[in-house]
Amino acid sequence: MEHQFIPAKELHKFLADLEKEFHVYVPLRKGDAQYYREFTREIERGEESPTGVMIPGFYVAGVRSVEPIKSFFFHARKQVSENYDDRLLGEGEKAVCLVGAKACDLKGLNILDSVFSEGDYKDPYYTRERNQTLIISTDCTDALDVCFCLSLHGKPYPEDGFDLNLSDIGDGYVVEAGSDRGRDIIEKSSLFSPAKKEQKMRREDQRSAVSEKVRSNIIEHSIPDCDDLGGVIRKNFESDLWEEEAETCVECGACNTICPTCHCFLLYDQSSEDRLGRFRIWDSCLIKDFATVAGGANPRAKLWMRLRNRFEKKFDFFPETGGNFACTGCGRCILACPGKIDIRKVLRRNVENVFQ
Ligand code: SF4
Ligand code: SF4
Repeated sequence: MEHQFIPAKELHKFLADLEKEFHVYVPLRKGDAQYYREFTREIERGEESPTGVMIPGFYVAGVRSVEPIKSFFFHARKQVSENYDDRLLGEGEKAVCLVGAKACDLKGLNILDSVFSEGDYKDPYYTRERNQTLIISTDCTDALDVCFCLSLHGKPYPEDGFDLNLSDIGDGYVVEAGSDRGRDIIEKSSLFSPAKKEQKMRREDQRSAVSEKVRSNIIEHSIPDCDDLGGVIRKNFESDLWEEEAETCVECGACNTICPTCHCFLLYDQSSEDRLGRFRIWDSCLIKDFATVAGGANPRAKLWMRLRNRFEKKFDFFPETGGNFACTGCGRCILACPGKIDIRKVLRRNVENVFQ
């Protein structure tokens, strides 16, 4: 299907149509950041005024949201069974339509897919959410100072993993279908028309401009390219850099919970008089008890060992076992860390140690 175009003023109507079938979630602009919330017809489309001031409302372009979209598929806390019953909870609920996911978000889902829905055991809850959720991604129209997706060979615009992708070009969106479901939606709607050559060129110009912004972040912070990261953590396994970097860590786990690729969890039971619920919650490999075993032994007793483990998993283990780095370059952990531990600097130190 050729690329389509939807005028900006019609986006609200398009989402209102989708809302009949889905719980539609959109990024809402708050200050200079974006947070997801459920779309209702009362929320207007936010846009930039001619003076550059943001008119409040939902804003599907811009940059990635503060929270990772993993929370739509792998919830921070989820009941997974009740009274030892095997039946899945929540069957028949209205599906979710996620609007405004960015390329780095979609890349993060590839890692979660490899863990939860592509191995010998498929997590039924995750797999259900993945199959049901309609993903309408959008190009980044800007980049944060902490964005470095190009270092991990990502792009600031989605190339796959979406049902529809919208590229904001000012007066509307160039629309690309990435699945039969997406094509079906376009065919059934009267809001789309084939994109003109000039509109597609504007999309390419904007993509180049945002890529350039990310590239200058990479140069400014001397962030290594992932081609130089192969096995680098193992080569620095005994380096002092881990103790030095972990000095300011307060073991809060924010770097894990905010990360779109981190997926560790723990199960616990909660009972009342007549019910026993089993819940799954996010876990963090930075927390002391994460790897503690029943007898009390802990293979990563020191905090710096746990920090090293986080990097080892992302930059050695995942590329070796699944062919992908478990980092998308979204920069969320940089902003979330109260100890100001900066993944860009840690990677740079690792590479410098090996190549100098
Ligand atoms: S490690 Fe940091 S930069 Fe990489 S994906 Fe996770 S939060 Fe984003
Ligand atoms: S966010 Fe920073 S301080 Fe908190 S656990 Fe992660 S590295 Fe440590």
